[in-house]
Amino acid sequence: MAEIKYQYAYDESKNLVSIKDITKENRNQHQYICIGCGSPLLPRAIGSQYRRPHFYHKELVDCSGETYLHKLAKKLIK
Ligand SMILES: [Zn+2]
Repeated sequence: MAEIKYQYAYDESKNLVSIKDITKENRNQHQYICIGCGSPLLPRAIGSQYRRPHFYHKELVDCSGETYLHKLAKKLIK
């Protein structure tokens, strides 16, 4: 299964947040939720110089990347 790089997530207030807005300082101040499946996401590689930061699913879930991208696209257009 191809790994989708999740660059956006909802926070607990359903605000769309970009991984670029996550810092080592604020990463634990919010809960992040997948746009596609509604499961918890966690930020990874924050502040890393070697890996591109992204969200990943806290638990292994059957998440459709297409649903995620579709919903994200709709959100970003608004
Ligand atoms: Zn998901």
